[in-house]
Amino acid sequence: MRAEIIAVGSELLLGQITNTNAKFISARLAEIGIDAYYQTVVGDNPDRLEEVIDIAQNRADLIIFSGGLGPTKDDLTKETIAKKLNGSLEMNIEALTSIEEYFNRTGRVMTENNKKQALVLADSMVLINRNGMAPGMAIEKKGLHYILLPGPPHELEPMFEKEAIPYLLGALGKQEVIASKVLKFYGIGEAELEFRVQSVLEKQSNPTVAPLASPDSVILRLTAKASSIEEAYKLIDPVEKEIRSLVGEFIYGTDDDTLSSKAAELLMKNQLTLAAAESLTAGRFMAELANEPGISASLKGGVVVYNEQTKMEQLGIHKALLEEHGVVSPECAAALARNVKQKFGSDIGIGLTGAAGPDPHDGKPMGTVWIGLALKDDEVKTFKLNLSGTRNANRSRAAQFALYYLIN
Ligand code: ATP
Ligand code: MG
Repeated sequence: MRAEIIAVGSELLLGQITNTNAKFISARLAEIGIDAYYQTVVGDNPDRLEEVIDIAQNRADLIIFSGGLGPTKDDLTKETIAKKLNGSLEMNIEALTSIEEYFNRTGRVMTENNKKQALVLADSMVLINRNGMAPGMAIEKKGLHYILLPGPPHELEPMFEKEAIPYLLGALGKQEVIASKVLKFYGIGEAELEFRVQSVLEKQSNPTVAPLASPDSVILRLTAKASSIEEAYKLIDPVEKEIRSLVGEFIYGTDDDTLSSKAAELLMKNQLTLAAAESLTAGRFMAELANEPGISASLKGGVVVYNEQTKMEQLGIHKALLEEHGVVSPECAAALARNVKQKFGSDIGIGLTGAAGPDPHDGKPMGTVWIGLALKDDEVKTFKLNLSGTRNANRSRAAQFALYYLIN
C-alpha cells in the first residue's frame, strides 16, 4: 500500500507551525509496514486542495488528511473531499450529542457553526475523537482509502493510534494487532541514549524500537505486532528488560507517567511528607507536584525565598554561610532543604537555588543549579546541574530535575 499524507493548513505554509502530524503519521505507518511515498502540504484553499487530491489519487492507494475538520469557515477539508468523491455529508448523531454534552459540561453556549463538526462523509467509518470535538473519518472509494484526521496533535495522535491503525490493519487484511509501550527517560540526552542502546536498535525488528525526543525528555517506543495483545506484550517484555539492563537508571516511568505523577505516587505510597524552599524556581517545583490529585496528603507546603534577606529571615540561613559560599552553592541548597524540612516538620525537604540567567549570579555562570534533598534520616544530598537553556527553560528544567532526584 502506497500512502500519501496531505496536511491542510495555511499556518503550515506560513511557517507558523511545524508539520509534526506528518512526521508522526509517517513513523506510525512505517511501523505497520505501510510506505509513505509522499507528504504534501496545502493551504486552507478548496481549489488547491482539490488539485493535490487529484495528484494523490493518481499515485497513492491511501490518502491521509490532517487538519481542517473544525467549526470555522477555513475548515473545509471534508467538504472538499465530499465534492471530489461525489459524496455527501450527513449529520452524525453520536458526534453531535458528544459536542452538545461538551458545551453543557463547560457551561458554554453552542453556536450553530459547531454543529458542522458533526457532519461526516456518508458511508464513512467514524473515528472517535477522545480529546476534542471533531470526529475523524475513514472511507474506501474506488479502491482508494481516505482517512481524515483533526489538526491538533493531541487529538490526531490518539485517534490515529486507537482508531485509524485498526482500520488500516483491516484494510491490509492483516489479522494482526499492534501493542506499544513507551519507556520514559530523564537525565540523559537522545544521542547518549541511542549510543548506549545501540545493540538493541541494531537488531530490532519485532518489536521496533523508536527513539523520540521532546524538549524535556527522551522516550523509546517499543511496538510489536502479533496475533493478540498478550502475544505482542510477550515480544515487548524481553526487549524492555534488555533496555532496562543497559540504561535502567534513567527510566522514570512508562506510557502516561510524568515525573510529577511518579514523584507523587512514591510520596503517597510511602506516606512521606515534603516541603520545598524555592529560590531559582519561585514555586514551579511545587506547582508541578500540585498537578497531581491527592498530593495534599504529602505536599505540606514551602516558601519562595528569592533573595538573601528572605533566605535569612524566613529560613534562618546564616549570613556567614551566604558570605562564605554564595547563594548558588551546595551549602546553600543543603541549608534550604534542611531548614524548610524543619520549618514544616516534613519527612523530606527540597531546596532549589541557581543562576537562571541571562547574567551570571553570584559569580556562577548562567545555568548553574544546586538542588538539595534533605531526607528522613537527616542526610542531605546535593546535586549540581549545568543547564544550557534560556532563563525560563532553565527554571523549568531545574524543577523537573528536582522531581527526578526525588524519584531516584
Ligand atoms: P480545530 O477544531 O482546532 O480547528 P482542525 O481539524 O480544523 O481543528 P486546523 O484548524 O487545521 O485543524 O488546525 C488546528 C490546530 O492544530 C493548528 O492551529 C495547529 O496548532 C495544529 N495543527 C494543524 N495541523 C498540524 C500539523 N500538520 N502538524 C502539527 N500541528 C498541526
Ligand atoms: Mg480549524
